[in-house]
Amino acid sequence: MSTPRVLITGASIAGPTLAYWLHRYGWQPVVLERAPAMRTGGQNIDVRGAGREVTRRMSLEDDIRAASTGERGTRFIDSSGTSIARFPAGTSDSAGASAELEILRGDLARLLVDRTIDHVEYRFGDQVTGLVDSTAGVSVSFAHAPDERFDLVVAADGIGSSTRGLVFGDEVEITSLGMETAWATITRTDADDDWWRWYSAPGGRTINLRPDAVGTIRASLSYPSDRAKGGTAEQRTPDQQRAMLHELFDDAGWEADRVLDGFDHADDLYCQMLGQVHAPRWSQGRLALVGDAAYCASPVSGMGTSLALVGAYVLAGELAAHVDYRDAFAGYERIVRPYVDQAQKLPPGVPRIAAPRSRAGVGIFRLGLRVASSPLVGKLGERLFTPPADQIELPDYAHLYS
Ligand SMILES: Cc1cc2nc3c(=O)[nH]c(=O)nc-3n(C[C@H](O)[C@H](O)[C@H](O)COP(=O)(O)OP(=O)(O)OC[C@H]3O[C@@H](n4cnc5c(N)ncnc54)[C@H](O)[C@@H]3O)c2cc1C
Repeated sequence: MSTPRVLITGASIAGPTLAYWLHRYGWQPVVLERAPAMRTGGQNIDVRGAGREVTRRMSLEDDIRAASTGERGTRFIDSSGTSIARFPAGTSDSAGASAELEILRGDLARLLVDRTIDHVEYRFGDQVTGLVDSTAGVSVSFAHAPDERFDLVVAADGIGSSTRGLVFGDEVEITSLGMETAWATITRTDADDDWWRWYSAPGGRTINLRPDAVGTIRASLSYPSDRAKGGTAEQRTPDQQRAMLHELFDDAGWEADRVLDGFDHADDLYCQMLGQVHAPRWSQGRLALVGDAAYCASPVSGMGTSLALVGAYVLAGELAAHVDYRDAFAGYERIVRPYVDQAQKLPPGVPRIAAPRSRAGVGIFRLGLRVASSPLVGKLGERLFTPPADQIELPDYAHLYS
């Protein structure tokens, strides 16, 4: 029998993880990334629970730890920078607002690509424009390369997946959580520390500053979508985005001026609506979806990376365990969907509860944080920020590879 070939779109977290496992099961993966080169941007992401176990099974956990951001925990602060409440980083696989294992998204993607580059073909600067499914495989058209046939195609190209759109059209719902976030890297100063600092200003605005391991600060500004101007986040040019952020945050207080100035000069400004992907099914014919393309839970869930790692691991394992890809796709969805459902169920009011509109609302939010972080309430605060990252029994596919 010839080696089965799979085309995977997206070289971030889900794509290279799937390629790693499929290669171990004897497949020949090709990963296609739309960007002209590896995208190294992105901020602190959590590797938790079952996601962390997947990295252990890939012998990657120590490399992730070595590249960890060293974030000590989360401090909520007032306009003078004084702590209102603090939640130290988790000490277990899953717990805490800051996970015990935090890494920059670009660093994790780089580790995954480095781990697979000797066995997996990576192609950059192209994208799929057409898919024709037949009993013999999928005939794929590209924006630049000539048509090519694969046994399967897997879309791992993120929340806005255009590969998914070719097959599912409007069937997949992307629900807005009513907020947008702009991220960028800014200069670190002597006043910074290794805590994630979170400041809420009236008007539903938040400013977040987080440390990294390379001597800069990863900043983000979040605001209600209904206060945004000039179309969707994706439609605005970086200059339009900057002008809008100035209008929204000029009077926000605390470090707003410094962050706005940093964003004016940053070359990695990245803005996105916070949303979730709800797909009625994760495959159609020979096309399957994985990671954010299938079930984005949004950055506020703290689960996006763990879902991508777990989903890719299970999808590959099911493909190795079944002769018929349809059984494999069914197995993948049966095992992973309950996990996704829990991750997408955000606590009531999130994210808006953490972004109060009125001055009184900010006061009540801060009071709640004080209570949640007090020794009297014990571990409640940690539980509040602990997503359901370990709520899946990971299948063991070790007997299927050498
Ligand atoms: C540049 C960037 C920065 C991010 N920053 C953060 C962050 O700061 N905090 C956070 O919580 N999450 C961030 N994320 C999202 C986070 O990586 C995901 O939620 C999670 O890890 C799941 O990963 P994924 O591989 O499923 O999707 P993603 O990480 O979204 O990766 C999708 C990949 O597909 C590529 N792609 C898009 N369209 C196509 C196409 N048509 N054909 C081929 N390739 C395509 C993209 O360039 C990207 O490399 C970021 C993602 C990216 C791409």
